[in-house]
Amino acid sequence: MPLRDGKRYCMNHPNTRMGRTERFKALVNVDGATTSGTGGTIDPGSGIIVMPFVCEECGYLELYLADKTPQEKK
Ligand SMILES: [Zn+2]
Repeated sequence: MPLRDGKRYCMNHPNTRMGRTERFKALVNVDGATTSGTGGTIDPGSGIIVMPFVCEECGYLELYLADKTPQEKK
């Protein structure tokens, strides 16, 4: 999470650079989910594009927006 000189370092390993995954991912909307987590339909045509970063030591994962000013679809 800490950004130093524009590079991302792990929260748990302050000296370990986090690596980007090869491709962008998407966080899509879920319609109709209840607060208990049941129900809901994944809408593959919706959502935002994200760039995941992963720490190879502990697997800590964080997401940055691929576009800093996204329009969330739908
Ligand atoms: Zn780590």
